[in-house]
Amino acid sequence: MMRRKIAAGNWKMNGTRASRAVLDALKAAHPDPGCEVVICPPAPLIPLLADGAAPYAIGGQDCHAQPSGAHTGDVSAETLADCGASHVILGHSERRADHGESDAVVRAKTEAAWRAGLVAIVCVGETESERDAGRALDVIRTQLDGSLPDGMTAANTVIAYEPVWAIGTGRTPTLPEIAEVHAAIRAHLTARFGDPVANALRILYGGSVKPGNAAQIFALADVDGGLVGGASLKAEDFGPIIAAA
Ligand code: PEP
Repeated sequence: MMRRKIAAGNWKMNGTRASRAVLDALKAAHPDPGCEVVICPPAPLIPLLADGAAPYAIGGQDCHAQPSGAHTGDVSAETLADCGASHVILGHSERRADHGESDAVVRAKTEAAWRAGLVAIVCVGETESERDAGRALDVIRTQLDGSLPDGMTAANTVIAYEPVWAIGTGRTPTLPEIAEVHAAIRAHLTARFGDPVANALRILYGGSVKPGNAAQIFALADVDGGLVGGASLKAEDFGPIIAAA
């Protein structure tokens, strides 16, 4: 199964209108990337980045489950799509920790993303204490079971495996550890969604991906690219990661 790789950048709560220059520099250096590139800026910057972004795609970092209504400060999937987003990150560990997002909430938001025609990038991953206790795979399987609605396809969803302890820390699991988790995710999803869906599904690795480790990580059999935080903020860092994908 040939799966097209994805280099996704999560800008988190960083960037201003001047950050359009990052996208422009990336496009100038990699006008025809051999992978899908998705940049997820803070929501107010989406229209500015989406204008003329192709072949790069633009995504949100979260959405509300409802299409509209009295939810001050929230943004619906429909609004993200209307502003030019084609993807949305859901269930990032920072959302799960800072906003108490449960698997059920992530599942409802994933349904919302699909309703609006967005590709959901659904994040799962264990904490350090869960890994130390030998529970990483159990935790991830539980998150997958609870966060993914029944209608998942390889077209409407991308999974991102992000060990919480590797995010923004400069630490990563070993290559065999990453390979083990990705294979376990694909096997687990095969049981529920069947072979064709699970084999076509892209599973990204996220957590301290840098220009220096991206190629090795992306070469692993079940790794279909990366979700990149800090190293997606500068074109000189994200460019080589795009090239590695
Ligand atoms: C992330 O927040 O999704 C992430 C992977 O961050 P970093 O690359 O900075 O570890």
